[in-house]
Amino acid sequence: MKQDTIDRFKGCLYGQAIGDALGLGTEGMTDEDMAWKYPNGIRHYSQIFQDRHRKRWEIGDWTDDTDMMLCIANAVIEDKGVDFYNIARHFKEWANGEPMGIGENTYKVLMMGDYVERPFEVSHKVWKMSRYQSAANGGLMRTSVVGLFPKEVKTCAENICRLTHYDPRCVGSCVIVSELIHALVYGLEPPTMSMMLNMAQSYDAEICNYIERSWSEQNVLNLMDDDHMGYTLVTLSVTLWAYWHANSFEEGLLAVVNAGGDADTNAAVACAVLGAKFGCQSIPQEYIEGLVYRDQLETTVQKLSEVCIGHNHD
Ligand SMILES: [Mg+2]
Repeated sequence: MKQDTIDRFKGCLYGQAIGDALGLGTEGMTDEDMAWKYPNGIRHYSQIFQDRHRKRWEIGDWTDDTDMMLCIANAVIEDKGVDFYNIARHFKEWANGEPMGIGENTYKVLMMGDYVERPFEVSHKVWKMSRYQSAANGGLMRTSVVGLFPKEVKTCAENICRLTHYDPRCVGSCVIVSELIHALVYGLEPPTMSMMLNMAQSYDAEICNYIERSWSEQNVLNLMDDDHMGYTLVTLSVTLWAYWHANSFEEGLLAVVNAGGDADTNAAVACAVLGAKFGCQSIPQEYIEGLVYRDQLETTVQKLSEVCIGHNHD
């Protein structure tokens, strides 16, 4: 049982990084782009088409999604617990460096002068400035790690999301994904569809439509819709679709990545869940070995698992 928990714990974080790194290959592409650049689809990092957007990253590097997930992980490792203000400091430090791929809403929030002192107020202010419309997937893209915390998953997922994304649609999607990952990793009964719908209700009823959509086999991966690109509920829907329908880690990874749209984020979140469901052992080695910063990820996985489940690796 414990060995199993460790494997799923690792699978979640590796899954996130792999989905993000391969998803970069199709991020923002239309079906026409994809047919031209990947006539037989994309399977490996080495195939990533090096256009102006993509060549800023090394092949096998991940993007902002996993960078920010690691900000959360590293703050928790430092504190041996959860201090939301220290997580905010890590976000800010990352944004002050070279935050490649940073989302528009996240950028606005992190660049406000007093963010570090008053992150929740600043985040709320930016949401208000959007007339309460902005509901991007920037909170959801990094929430997988919160599901690995041993306790207080709901409160932590809510607050860590609100550090940059205040909208209840964002907060609700983070809670649903983090709770799902937590149950999968710690061997608890995973939330059913109706339990998810109940959770969703308490944040925003609109979330329910997207959960229901994820149940049907078709259409959900038809993602290249400009109006909805980067919408938190689209990413939630794709993630749950992969959770219900993919028969293996690789099958889900390739289906989501080859659908284009906001592929790095969609695949980061979906593959974190698939890694938690099927375990790290189920992930083909080449995806793990191809990660440029694999050693850095492995160090974080080990330290975080010591903090969360008291496991000492050999
Ligand atoms: Mg990204």
